[in-house]
Amino acid sequence: MDTEDWNDADAYLAWATQELVRNGHKKLCMVRDAPTAKAVDEFERVLEEAKTEDPLQEFFEEHPEVLAHQIGAGCRWIIPKPKVGGVYVPDFMAARLNSGGLRWVAIELETPCIDSLFVGKYKTPARELRNGLQQIKDWRHWIENNLQTARNSPRNGGCGFVDISPKVQGMVIIGRRRITNQDDQRRRHDIFWNEHCEIQTYDWLLEEARKMIPMRHPVTDECEECELYGR
Ligand SMILES: [Zn+2]
Repeated sequence: MDTEDWNDADAYLAWATQELVRNGHKKLCMVRDAPTAKAVDEFERVLEEAKTEDPLQEFFEEHPEVLAHQIGAGCRWIIPKPKVGGVYVPDFMAARLNSGGLRWVAIELETPCIDSLFVGKYKTPARELRNGLQQIKDWRHWIENNLQTARNSPRNGGCGFVDISPKVQGMVIIGRRRITNQDDQRRRHDIFWNEHCEIQTYDWLLEEARKMIPMRHPVTDECEECELYGR
């Protein structure tokens, strides 16, 4: 594709790619950087032994590609513990290009060791789940009140979240599939619609990561998205 044939959306996506890379965020290409079977097996092992989210946080910092599939197809950026002075930040910020621009997701990791996601007579979110949801809300408030800082490049004292919006989607990863039930599905669905926040278990993540393994190609293979908008 010749850049002269670009429309505004293409020009924007190329610019956004360049900005994120200039901000020091490495792009994960879904063709070249899809997870290996070895990395996914290691994730499974870390998960089985984990008593808190800390070892998982550490693992994903080293293997962001295992966390990466959660926001649909395409190449993307996974930014661990974004550096923002003196405020609460989410565990990971993820971004990928789509036709509407950059799509951001704030990801919170909570403990894999929890007995149920919803508790009490009225089946309200358990403390750990509530924490995760609240942290996403706090982060959105911070973005709303510091929008320019959030969007500006680190070269200008910003966070480098190109074009981020305070309505950023949230994702909380918590617990294991065996502790969830049919009613939880409905409650999770309600939270998704009301709070724009997805709740998933670590088993879901593991399953999704396994699906990605066959997508891995040698670095010599071309990726349409990266060829078009840069890497
Ligand atoms: Zn790519």
